[in-house]
This record gives sequence, C-alpha cells and structure tokens, in this order.
Amino acid sequence: MEKRCTFCGKELGFLERDVLGCGGTDQPCCKSCHQKMMPLSMVERCQRALQTGRAVDWRTMQGFLEQHQQGEDTAKRQAEQRKQQRRTGKSCLRCGAPMLSLGKQTFKLGEETFFFSDWNRLFSGSLDLEVEVCKQCQKVEFFLPEGVSLNLNER
Ligand SMILES: [Zn+2]
Ligand SMILES: [Zn+2]
Repeated sequence: MEKRCTFCGKELGFLERDVLGCGGTDQPCCKSCHQKMMPLSMVERCQRALQTGRAVDWRTMQGFLEQHQQGEDTAKRQAEQRKQQRRTGKSCLRCGAPMLSLGKQTFKLGEETFFFSDWNRLFSGSLDLEVEVCKQCQKVEFFLPEGVSLNLNER
C-alpha cells in the first residue's frame, strides 16, 4: 500500500517515510512536513491533519480534540467563576483594602437568632446572604443577594 504524507499529500518513498504523533495517532508524513509540524502543539497538529482529509485514524484525533476543548472550557469557566467570586469592586470601609467575596452563604434562622433577631419575623427558614471580607483587617460584611429586597419600614 502506498503511503502519502498526511499533511502535503506527497507520495512517500521508503527513505522519506516518517511518522508524526498526533493526538494518539501516528500520521505518515514526509521529512519536511515533519520538520514543519514538530514545533506545533498537539492540538494544532491534529487540526492540520484533519483539515487535509487524508488523516489516518481521524476519529481518534477528533476525540482528542474534543476532549481537549472540553478541558479548556471547564478550566476557563472555573477561572472565570473564581475571579467573579473574589472580586467585588468594593473597598473596605475601615481600611480601604479591596473586599473579597466569600460568595453566597445560607444562614439558618433560629440557629443564629442572636445575629438576625429582627429578621426572623421577615424570613422563615433560611436566609441567603452575600458575604464579603476584607483580607487586610478581616472586617466582614453581609449583603442581600441581587433580586432580594426587604421592606424594613413595614413594621
Ligand atoms: Zn509532507
Ligand atoms: Zn479592611
């Protein structure tokens, strides 16, 4: 069976035959393509190979790309979440250092009655509050989550 370079399509003579690892597959390729492709990342190699339509075992490579993409998406989402969780854009009222968010915490009313005694009347069960903390002086602040409003005048 004649072998062609996956990347340029050139017929490969015996001395010219080389293989390039691409996402779990071995793509036959010529020496010059091998040299060109070596510095590329594994993802780029797979993309190039798939584009040609000549790739050997392309399903394996596609699987590799999909997994890689999923991994990147997850990493991006997590990094974004972490950023959003932490950054509040507010400054500490005591010392002026940036306030960091600890995210939404659920407080069970009744257990923390000493803290929220007035609020027991307004909420039953539990209460979600955004908690922010100053890293420098450790002051902690609570905020109602967005979309929750209280009419405290209604006594
Ligand atoms: Zn080639
Ligand atoms: Zn502070």
